[in-house]
Amino acid sequence: MRVAIFSTKPYDREFFEAANRDGQHELIFLEAALNRETAPLAREFAAVCVFVNDKLDAATLLTLSAGKTRLIALRCAGYNNVDLAIAKDLGFTVTRVPAYSPHAVAEHTISMMLALNRRIYRAYNRVREGNFALSGMLGFDMRDRVVAVIGTGKIGALVAKLLHAFGCHLVGYDVFENPDCLALGMEYLPLETAIAKADIITLHCPLLPSTYHIIGDRAIACMKKGAMLINTSRGGLIDTQAVIRGLKSEQIGYLGIDVYEEEDKLFFEDLSDAVIQDDDFGRLLSFPNVLITGHQAFFTREAMTEIARTTLANLWDFESDRPCANNLDLEKLAVTP
Ligand code: NAD
Repeated sequence: MRVAIFSTKPYDREFFEAANRDGQHELIFLEAALNRETAPLAREFAAVCVFVNDKLDAATLLTLSAGKTRLIALRCAGYNNVDLAIAKDLGFTVTRVPAYSPHAVAEHTISMMLALNRRIYRAYNRVREGNFALSGMLGFDMRDRVVAVIGTGKIGALVAKLLHAFGCHLVGYDVFENPDCLALGMEYLPLETAIAKADIITLHCPLLPSTYHIIGDRAIACMKKGAMLINTSRGGLIDTQAVIRGLKSEQIGYLGIDVYEEEDKLFFEDLSDAVIQDDDFGRLLSFPNVLITGHQAFFTREAMTEIARTTLANLWDFESDRPCANNLDLEKLAVTP
């Protein structure tokens, strides 16, 4: 199958070429992100393969449809960047990679918690400058801390399992209770009650109309003073302005984010010679208790191998007209909120 692979980085190419060793598919690697301006590049390609910050809005989908593209193969789990209602109306098939390595994201989440707690990112710089003072480095034992896991699916449940090993107490919020989390002793509570009990709040629900800005002024007001907030899920779960207010008032004591609402203008690029125009992002960087990584939680060798393997298997199922468990159910999902 002829596939235009958008937002390609050298590492994407490496893993996709390895997975396509037998040359079953004709993979054309494009550095450009897919959006309404670049959509004409996909003309006559039966499939496009896209990542988290490609924007498949109505205009993009109309151009893809006119150019005879039939399949949208997401090489990620989330699908918040696709207008599913329009995709359904235009008759697209949309596939994704629902689980490539929940371990990668769960382990990165724990790394962020520990790095923030023990100020590892500050220690790295201090020690290199010959500053061995401990002021500002005081941490806390993870044991006996209460952690609220918001979204207890595959990643949330693994985070809960790792935290259980630290001796943390687990509270959770989800629209479904996960038996694996219940077995760890997790207590499911309404969102604001869970947040109010927690020393650490970690977000693992998808970005949906119902979860957009799930952490805003109201949720922040419920937090314990000085709580830690971690988001390795999707930037839109957090109202950035509200979080900045929470950091300034010290209601939020620590913030760890791997995702950011406006990340499509920043992440995955080397902007070290550019002047960053996003003032909210600049403000976040100015806090000593904020740790930001650039959407790298998924980025392990195992996850990249699985992403490429599953994406090519999804293409193969589409081409062979076989049912594919990774097709999004557009009838069900494409409901206007
Ligand atoms: P999953 O589908 O297994 O779990 C999501 C959970 O969220 C489910 O239990 C679901 O019931 C729950 N949920 C749905 N709506 C909810 C709501 N309104 N309130 C509370 N909970 C709700 O997904 P997963 O594999 O655990 O992934 C979770 C998210 O992690 C993905 O949606 C994706 O956005 C993000 N993710 C980030 C990275 C990264 O590199 N940072 C990588 C992969 C996934």
